[in-house]
Amino acid sequence: MRRTLVLSLAMCASLPAEVRSLTIIHTNDLHARLTPLENRHGGFAYVAAVIRREREHCTDCLVLFAGDLVQGTPVSTIFHGLPVYQIANLFGFDAATLGNHEFDYGWPQARKFIQAANFPTVTANLVNSKGELFTPKPYIILKVNGLRVAVLGAMTDTLPALTTPKLLEDWREIPLIETVRKYAQELRSQSDLVVLLAHITDGEEMAVLKNVPEIPVLVTGHIHRGIEQPLVVDGRIMVRAKAYGEEVGRLDLKVDTEKKAPVDWKWTRITVDSTAIAPAADVAGAVQHWESEVTARVDRPLAVSRRAFSKVETKQLIEQALRDETGADFSWMNLGGVRDLVPQGQLLERNIWNIMPFDNTVVVGTFKGKDLPKVVVGDRQIDPEREYTLAVSDYTAANQETRENLQTTGLKFPHEVGLMRDLLIDWFRKKKVIE
Ligand SMILES: [Zn+2]
Repeated sequence: MRRTLVLSLAMCASLPAEVRSLTIIHTNDLHARLTPLENRHGGFAYVAAVIRREREHCTDCLVLFAGDLVQGTPVSTIFHGLPVYQIANLFGFDAATLGNHEFDYGWPQARKFIQAANFPTVTANLVNSKGELFTPKPYIILKVNGLRVAVLGAMTDTLPALTTPKLLEDWREIPLIETVRKYAQELRSQSDLVVLLAHITDGEEMAVLKNVPEIPVLVTGHIHRGIEQPLVVDGRIMVRAKAYGEEVGRLDLKVDTEKKAPVDWKWTRITVDSTAIAPAADVAGAVQHWESEVTARVDRPLAVSRRAFSKVETKQLIEQALRDETGADFSWMNLGGVRDLVPQGQLLERNIWNIMPFDNTVVVGTFKGKDLPKVVVGDRQIDPEREYTLAVSDYTAANQETRENLQTTGLKFPHEVGLMRDLLIDWFRKKKVIE
């Protein structure tokens, strides 16, 4: 919708307050899911088709990406994410923020992603010990439909617990809330609307929404389940789409340029249904090219699964594999590290790559019964003075104190066994039938 100006701008010393439309098309956590999922939703060529359809003839549209483009499939793991950025360059993103998984291949690779992207990447709260920003800029001001839209990027404060020190080296978080408030205040005079594009936890989403009135619009990612309805606090609005390309979000706003806030909004969640839309041909070609690079390596039959396993059951299968393959008495797999499920039917090595895309290694330590983490022991009877072995991933060992890991500190795992994915593939192949 175009709006005709009633007042002549030349007659006014200052810009008259007015209401202008702005549409934000957004997605998050695509996680290198290049082809459609089991439920036939998603796939980069279909995500691109939806974005292009929504953007066609649109004069007030911005396309934003809220982080975690890479990590999740063999193309990403084998080529360390760069092909995923090359394909995403066909999406027409206007801006993106970094996700925690952009650091999975080490921070220099995340730098390469920023350079490879044909769209700006903004993250305001990631700095080194000299205070230099990781991204070229903390925000970008995009002009659309006569509006100056400031897109301010941010990363979750929990980043250190989502990665390992060797991946981040000197890069660290500065506090999310303080930092985004400072920039939002600074941006008020230079823009007509501040949009926070953030890769943050659901707790942090609520904290910004409730405590940072300077930010009227939030577009987020990181928590993979989408939301049903926008979260709204005092007229401030937050949206997040479902991960893995299952959904593209479309937020239609009416922005009051004096209030510098939306006065009206409508949010639409668009399901990316690969059975109902034509793929974007150029993206499909790029996906096919990169898939063909890995298919000989990963599309090999592995085992047969008698039934579909839930996420918790898949975690338990992994824990069983860890014990069987290492001979350890106990094992632990963090639930957040289980990135896909074991489906019913013929399993390919690709299934394991999707379940365990990370190049995590398996490490084993020996502990007295009394020193074993409670979460690992459960209701098993143990002798407090006897020694037991415990197998975990190097990620769990490095983040043992967190809630989804061992909830303890000081445990040493000196024995490194090898790549967890290789161990799992070996276990599934020997098992032949999973039930
Ligand atoms: Zn994330």
